[in-house]
Amino acid sequence: MTFIITQSCCNDASCVAVCPVDCIHPAPDDPDFATAEMLYINPDECIDCGACVPACPVSAVHADSELPEHLSDYAQINADYFTWVGDIPFPAAPPPAGPKVQDQEAPLRVAVVGSGPAGWFVTEELAATRRADVEITVIDRLATPHGLVRHGVAPDHLGTKDASVMFDTIARHKSTTVRLNVEVGKDITHDDLLQHHHAVVYATGAAVGRTLGVPGEDLPGSYSAAEFVTWYNGEPDHVDLAPALDHERAVIIGNGNVALDMARLLLLSPDHLHESSDMAPYAIDGLRESAIREVVLVGRRGPEHAAFTTPELLALINNPDIDVIVDPAELTSLADIDDSERTAATYAASQKVALLRRVAETAPTGAKRLVLRFGLTPQEIVGEERATAIALARTNDPSDVETIDAGLILRATGYRSTAVDGVPFDEESGRFANDGGRVTDPESGELVARVYTTGWAKRGPSGVIGTNRTCAVETATAVVDDYYEGRLADTVGDKDAFDALLTERGVAIVDLVAWKRLDSHERAEGKAIGRPRLKISDRAEQIRIGAEQ
Ligand code: NAP
Repeated sequence: MTFIITQSCCNDASCVAVCPVDCIHPAPDDPDFATAEMLYINPDECIDCGACVPACPVSAVHADSELPEHLSDYAQINADYFTWVGDIPFPAAPPPAGPKVQDQEAPLRVAVVGSGPAGWFVTEELAATRRADVEITVIDRLATPHGLVRHGVAPDHLGTKDASVMFDTIARHKSTTVRLNVEVGKDITHDDLLQHHHAVVYATGAAVGRTLGVPGEDLPGSYSAAEFVTWYNGEPDHVDLAPALDHERAVIIGNGNVALDMARLLLLSPDHLHESSDMAPYAIDGLRESAIREVVLVGRRGPEHAAFTTPELLALINNPDIDVIVDPAELTSLADIDDSERTAATYAASQKVALLRRVAETAPTGAKRLVLRFGLTPQEIVGEERATAIALARTNDPSDVETIDAGLILRATGYRSTAVDGVPFDEESGRFANDGGRVTDPESGELVARVYTTGWAKRGPSGVIGTNRTCAVETATAVVDDYYEGRLADTVGDKDAFDALLTERGVAIVDLVAWKRLDSHERAEGKAIGRPRLKISDRAEQIRIGAEQ
């Protein structure tokens, strides 16, 4: 028997850490780790110990004998990876952990701004350091934690959302204080944080959609993924979007996993979403009225460069309620790959092209349609009072323009982070310039003392949830190194002083206990009507329920 990693793999490598025979790759030490779509178990080396199963925070690992039918392709997908990349060199042993510093008078105090995956992974790393006693304040502008896990991950990916259980466990660590409903730049300033902490880590993600720069982009009916995804996920600031769902066709620009998520949710039946997702109730009601029968997903490059991952494409292909349509004429061939190019990335590209060929040969069933188009670049979103069509040109022949009628145009072309007053920000890349997690001034390149970043705010909007773990290790190490080597402030205000400041500013603090009350309430209300969770999207109500005794 062997174990197999499947669709919801989050790449956080918890499984790698517990595997006694090093049979899970790419591991964080492998050069391919950062670009891998998922991790794979080598069936020839797995000793069937099962240690990886409970270690996985998103239940992605199954025994081959218990592999659910809809995940059956993953036995081959895991095995083929090792055939594709060949021998994997044995990693060097890590250096032994250094001794803890015992002579510190006061603990190292770190503010982590952002309670999404990046914030929790850096908190976990800081709390686990053996080199200092640490106090961490985790701050979020929303009254609920978990960032993208609550407001970005597709509501029907409940396995991925299980990562929140791991994050709640990190939050309960004695070194950690959770302060939600606190907005830096509004309730408190960056300087306030520095006065009460030795270091500030910005784990603020990337919440704003990138623009295309084409005419018509701002027409009603044209939205960024940042707006649409937070709408169906019930983020308090986006509940009023009211997207246009009254035309039979929607077009999505970009073909990453966010594009696939939005397409799938537009096409799945609202009854299915009611039972099997935590989509906001008003969004399910909106989708019940939807006229959309076809979603066209537009990639500007060829299929071998498609940004979606194989597991997400495979899940759509295996969904009987959706016909995936590909024009064989748009399926370019993969160039011959020599042995030096046999990486996790080329493995994924070859799988995608093979799967798309399978799709091109499959007859549609008459279900709702997801049409995958390739090699088309947006020219204009057409319409007067609202978007009614999109003009696209062949990327390799801009004179060849086609116009597709649609009532809803969604841009899934990446995200930008948001600047914070008082902290240098790189407007061009849309994130904090940094050197291994230490924030730098984008103009001068100089380090900004005591300011750090991690996650999408640090490296841009790429990677899955677990990618943030290795990113956080680097940032946490930088913070502790700087503390250890005397590069942080000598004295800072303590926990009580920080809470007193929040109270003085009139902040209604939401702590971990309040969040867990709301969490239990949402789960119980959901259970009562056959749903995994009944999300509350009104901030005042969230705070009220959290405060109930
Ligand atoms: P993404 O994977 O980077 O995809 C962005 C897409 O937008 C690409 O197809 C890109 O094309 C296209 N694009 C960018 N600028 C464009 C322009 N000016 N005109 C036309 N097309 C343009 O981003 P994402 O989908 O937002 O996902 C972000 C990250 O979250 C990814 O790492 C993703 O895997 C992850 N994620 C994972 C899951 C999951 O595991 N289920 C779900 C959601 C998100 P080019 O490639 O040609 O630049």
